[in-house]
Amino acid sequence: MTTEHVNCLIIGSGPAGYTAAIYASRAGMKPVLYQGMQPGGQLTITNEVDNFPGYPEGVNGPQLMMDLEQQARRFGADIRYGVVTAVDFSGPMHKAVVDDQQEISANVVIISTGASAKWLGLPSEMRLNGLGVSACAVCDGFFFRGKDVAIVGAGDTAAEEASYLANLCRKVYMIVRRGEMRASKFMQNRVKSLPNIEILWNTETLEVLGEDGVTGALVKNAVTGEERVLDISGFFVAIGHQPNTAIFKNYLELDETGYIITEKGSTRTNVPGVFACGDAQDNIYRQAITAAGTGCMAALDAERYLAMKEVEMHAEA
Ligand code: NDP
Repeated sequence: MTTEHVNCLIIGSGPAGYTAAIYASRAGMKPVLYQGMQPGGQLTITNEVDNFPGYPEGVNGPQLMMDLEQQARRFGADIRYGVVTAVDFSGPMHKAVVDDQQEISANVVIISTGASAKWLGLPSEMRLNGLGVSACAVCDGFFFRGKDVAIVGAGDTAAEEASYLANLCRKVYMIVRRGEMRASKFMQNRVKSLPNIEILWNTETLEVLGEDGVTGALVKNAVTGEERVLDISGFFVAIGHQPNTAIFKNYLELDETGYIITEKGSTRTNVPGVFACGDAQDNIYRQAITAAGTGCMAALDAERYLAMKEVEMHAEA
């Protein structure tokens, strides 16, 4: 296996990774960014992004990510195809393996591997993804103003997103697979108090219906066995996210759901010289703009770390 040494390695290419690359390249850190399995990240499966500042008319997700990538390239960021498949943060030099075949060693590492929404796993859900099926009410709810929608899930995210949708939509069906919700009491009460939310208990989704867009959902009550079609134009899935952090678990402190733990107010992880930004370390805000913000923080934190290292080396010499 060949080894290449780089100064700053960025793993992942969503808004966090690209923003880190913009700042790191402008700071002369010569970042090398590996894009990962889904270049551009979660936004590449979103049609319209209306809430990213700077785009008064909105922008489509893939375009936004291409703009960020181009901006990073303009300052010299070395952006490469490739998936980081393993890391070793145990030594003085951090190491990563790309596509199981090339080893990279780096002075600093910025992790921006993001998170992936969990899906039900229905073929129709995948086929209509971005055509009425969405895993982000805050991103896409706006397109269903005045319409009827459904949301699957019963945790705090589903409850919060159902309330958000209830403000915009005519009717919101909340599809809950058990006879109770996991969400906090406060959020449950909120959902139950909104007149245009109908909770469908003990209900599973059998199929999302529609050809070029969502026209309905076929659901089944697990207790009575009754099946019915909901007439809806939007189908939201809010059954949790999985941070893409499995390869780091032997080295970095993760919380119980796998999010990387960073020091409060910074992007520092428990390993000096390794920084984490974006959804890989954020299970609360999860927005493109907050990911971009923490990407900027990670580059600044990494730059300070490198500067301090240099001062230490000079002092020792
Ligand atoms: P959770 O894991 O808490 O909840 C996931 C929900 O999805 C559960 O109700 C689960 O059902 C349901 N579910 C999972 N798989 C399926 C499936 N295949 N079909 C149907 N339903 C399914 O995830 P959240 O994203 O809601 O929350 C993650 C964490 O973030 C939690 O700790 C939460 O408290 C926190 N959070 C806090 C917020 C706040 O404080 N404002 C806002 C949002 C999140 P079941 O209950 O049957 O397992």
